[in-house]
Amino acid sequence: MNLHGKTVLITGSTSGIGLGIAQVFAQTGAKIILNGFGDIEMAKAAVTQKQNGNIPGYHNADLSDEKQIIDMMHYADKEFGGVDILINNAGIQHVSPTESFPVDKWNAIIAINLSSVFHTTRLALPNMLKHNWGRIINIASVHGLVASKNKSAYVAAKHGVIGLTKSVALETARTNVTCNAICPGWVLTPLVQQQIDKRIADGAKPEAALKDLLEEKQPSSQFVTPQQLGELALFLCSDSATQVRGVAWNMDGGWVAQ
Ligand code: NAD
Repeated sequence: MNLHGKTVLITGSTSGIGLGIAQVFAQTGAKIILNGFGDIEMAKAAVTQKQNGNIPGYHNADLSDEKQIIDMMHYADKEFGGVDILINNAGIQHVSPTESFPVDKWNAIIAINLSSVFHTTRLALPNMLKHNWGRIINIASVHGLVASKNKSAYVAAKHGVIGLTKSVALETARTNVTCNAICPGWVLTPLVQQQIDKRIADGAKPEAALKDLLEEKQPSSQFVTPQQLGELALFLCSDSATQVRGVAWNMDGGWVAQ
C-alpha cells in the first residue's frame, strides 16, 4: 500500500507490537512518529532501515500525563502538519488479585491503557475531520472482549478502549474517518515475557512456562506476531476497509472462539 503524504503516530512504538507496526507502515512511504521509552535509537534505526533511510519523528511523552500527550500532539501538528493515522498502542500490565491490586498500578493502567487513548483521539480528530480522512486504530486485546483472573485493571481498561472505539466510530460514521480496535491474543513481547518470567519465578520450568501460558488460552498454540498485527492495521487504512467501523477485530489464534 502507498501511504506517501500520510503521517502515522504510533504510541508505545519503541518495543514489541508498536515497533512491529511502525516497521510495517514504514514500508508504505508514510511519515512515522514514534513514542515510548527504552532503546529509542534501536527503534529509530529499525524503522529507518525499512524506509530507505528516512529518519522517523519521535516524542518522549509519558502517556500517563495528559500535558505530555498535548505536547506530543502539538509536536505532530507543528513538525508533520497533523496526524492522519493514529495507532494507540502503548500499554502496560500488572497481574494481581483484585483485593491486593496496588492502587498506583490500577491508576497507571487506566491512565496509559485507556485515558491516553481518549486524549490522543480528541486531539487528533480535528485535523482528520478538517481533511475528511483519518484512521484511528486502537490496539486493545482479547482482554477487551473476555476476562482473565488477576488482570482487573487491564481487563477494565481494554473493555473501555473498545467502548471508546465504538463511540468514536459512530460520531465519525458519515465521514472518511474510521475508528476500529484490534484485539491480539498472546504476542511474545517484553510485556508477555514478564508474565512468563513470573511463572518461572513461581517454580515453573522455562519451556513449560511458555508452553502452558500459550496452551491455556490460545488454541493455535502459536504466538501472534507484531508483523501480522501491522498488516491488519494496514488493511484498516485501505479503501477496502472504509466500511469497517467500530469493530473489535481479534487476531488471537482462536482465543475468543472458545
Ligand atoms: P511492550 O512492553 O513490548 O511495549 C509497550 C510499549 O509502550 C513500549 O514502547 C513502552 O515504552 C511503551 N510505554 C509503556 N508505558 C508508557 C508510557 N507511560 N508512556 C509512553 N509509552 C509507554 O508491550 P506489547 O506487548 O508490545 O504491547 C503493546 C500493546 O499491545 C499494549 O497496549 C498491550 O496491552 C497490547 N497487547 C499485547 C499483547 C501481547 O500478548 N503482547 C496482547 C494483547 C494486547
